[in-house]
Amino acid sequence: MRRPKTAFFDLSCCEGCQLQVVNAGELLLEIVNLVDIVEFREAISETWAGELDVAFVEGSVTDEHAAARLTAIRARAKVLVALGSCATTGGVNGMKNALDLAEVGRIVYGEDRRLFPTAATRALHQVVPVDYTIHGCPIYLPEFLTVLKCILAGLPYTAPDQAVCTECKRIENVCLFDRGVSCLGPVTRAGCNSWCVNNGNICYGCRGLVSNPNEKGMLKVLTAHGVSLEHVVKKMELYNRCRAEVVERGR
Ligand code: SF4
Ligand code: SF4
Ligand code: SF4
Repeated sequence: MRRPKTAFFDLSCCEGCQLQVVNAGELLLEIVNLVDIVEFREAISETWAGELDVAFVEGSVTDEHAAARLTAIRARAKVLVALGSCATTGGVNGMKNALDLAEVGRIVYGEDRRLFPTAATRALHQVVPVDYTIHGCPIYLPEFLTVLKCILAGLPYTAPDQAVCTECKRIENVCLFDRGVSCLGPVTRAGCNSWCVNNGNICYGCRGLVSNPNEKGMLKVLTAHGVSLEHVVKKMELYNRCRAEVVERGR
């Protein structure tokens, strides 16, 4: 049976999500048995200019060059997958949108800024249609495998839309708020199995906000633990620059 021609591409990002795939260990052997990887700059030197069955695209669209490149990838891919938060929500690149772009260019490139025209950060779906979405910074490998299986089986995949707290409670972690630390789990989309909290860190909201965040519940938790809304909104802006106002509305 012909294995689907599959490629990995990167736009503006740190390439950490591709690294998750490269670091999949023995699972990587299973993956290459399932798909024919024809381009994957972080792993192989071959390139491919023909049609693609599946294109995984990591990173955000942060200039018109990236938008044109993404459009060209979309035109030759039957299935396009947004890989990681930079691609699915704009991720950390979204912070740029809060600043004056000319000023951003001046700070980063100084006198040479005209050589590097920039644009507001966009997630992939704001430029081209996206078939599958894998959130996370970086992606959570078990979810990547689930999505890959869905693609191969021709099934849709819907990312979980409940809060990270639901996973964290199942694992019976002690809530970080009870340890005097604030955490974005109550309003962040699950699907990572509360990965960061399990490993002694807070949830930074990398998977984006749930579609219907319990704003009043979150405010109740903050009030009970003496945490200011401003403090949490600032944390949320790291990954959710465009949607921090959602919590603001709960005031
Ligand atoms: S989502 Fe995070 S880990 Fe993945 S490419 Fe973007 S910054 Fe890197
Ligand atoms: S707030 Fe954070 S630590 Fe507390 S239950 Fe939710 S995810 Fe877990
Ligand atoms: S716990 Fe939060 S920050 Fe960590 S991977 Fe999950 S959604 Fe992202």
